[in-house]
Amino acid sequence: MRQSQLFTKTLREAPKDEVSLNAQLLIRAGFVDKLMAGVYTYLPLGLRVLKKIQNIIREEIDAVGGQEILMPALSPKENWEATGRWDGLDVLFKLEGAGDKEYALGASHEEVVKPLVQRFVKSYKDLPEAVYQIQHKFRNEPRAKSGLLRGREFNMKDLYSFHRDEADMNSYYEKVSAAYSKIFSRCGLDAKIVEATGGTFSKFSHEFQVFTEHGEDDVYVCGKCGKNQNKELVTDLKCPYCGAAREVKKAIEVGNIFKLKIKYSAPFAFKYCAEDNQEKDVFMGCFGLGPSRVMGAIVEVGHDANGMIWPESVAPFDIHLVSLAKSPVVAKRADEIYEKLIRSGKEVLYDDRADVSAGAKFADSDLIGVPYRYVVSAKTLEKDSVEVKRRGEEKTDLVKI
Ligand code: ATP
Ligand code: MG
Repeated sequence: MRQSQLFTKTLREAPKDEVSLNAQLLIRAGFVDKLMAGVYTYLPLGLRVLKKIQNIIREEIDAVGGQEILMPALSPKENWEATGRWDGLDVLFKLEGAGDKEYALGASHEEVVKPLVQRFVKSYKDLPEAVYQIQHKFRNEPRAKSGLLRGREFNMKDLYSFHRDEADMNSYYEKVSAAYSKIFSRCGLDAKIVEATGGTFSKFSHEFQVFTEHGEDDVYVCGKCGKNQNKELVTDLKCPYCGAAREVKKAIEVGNIFKLKIKYSAPFAFKYCAEDNQEKDVFMGCFGLGPSRVMGAIVEVGHDANGMIWPESVAPFDIHLVSLAKSPVVAKRADEIYEKLIRSGKEVLYDDRADVSAGAKFADSDLIGVPYRYVVSAKTLEKDSVEVKRRGEEKTDLVKI
């Protein structure tokens, strides 16, 4: 992509009311634009990152047998009344439609997915099954000051699994947990498993937490046995597993997995006909992961004073080709190098802007944070080379074209 044609520009300052570091950098670099608190537009650079994160998730969830669907964001009041969440879920956005109909915007999708899957699952032969979607969720979060970490409209991958019995649900839960670890490490995040409240239906859920000072969660970390627990659920500094003294660390919750068991199936008669001809309750698992929060978390842990530092797996481009051409001859050579890199399969952001100083181009390049910067100038071309620098390192190398 030619930077001269990119419709967004980098900004010197982030909006004054934006206090979170991830949103300040993402807005300044032209990855996202803030419409209002907790609601952002993904611009060309930011959308590329979001899609890469989503694709990593898609690959790993497909690999554990998830079947991708896309459910509506809009759903009828009746479904939410049936689960008690019309009044019970404080962050639910509610709307009125024509003819006095009332609707909710999806905050999560148990109310839609359970009746959907129930229409197809009748016998033990239809189980197990797992469906997921990657979609925007809506939650009327009271505080939306953490940029992409806490949106009122945000992206989520939600996977729902359906099983014959608890043992099958448990073994799938372990598989998905391993897939989550892969997803986060492929995204360049060191996410740790943390025990958290599971609501009324099981002892614990498990969260995947990235430790960083700007996290909104407090996690008890045991240096001795390595078990972590969310502070929401326990108040004791002493580790319940080994008795050691624990410390509290700030963290960002990037994923959360739950054993729903029969919470949503028993009250709604979601049963199947078992091999012995008995009617049995369907066991459910539910697995959430927020690609937009992951994007914010990557920025929170990957930046320096000059801007963002993207891991190669999710960077908007592989290479930032910066042309310092002052003559048509050099500009033409830079164009040729750009074409050549594209032909070799690289994703390249090409700073071909004619009226911008070298200093401003380098500052933009550091802010945007593409993993490799290639500089082309009359000087590098004398040696038939480009100057290569890895983002986050000082060292530069002249590399033959
Ligand atoms: P939190 O405790 O941070 O409010 P939650 O526990 O209510 O989140 P879940 O319902 O478990 O969130 O959602 C699954 C995943 O969706 C979370 O692990 C996170 O990655 C993402 N997520 C949840 N709420 C938001 C939000 N407001 N903005 C961005 N991502 C979110
Ligand atoms: Mg959660």
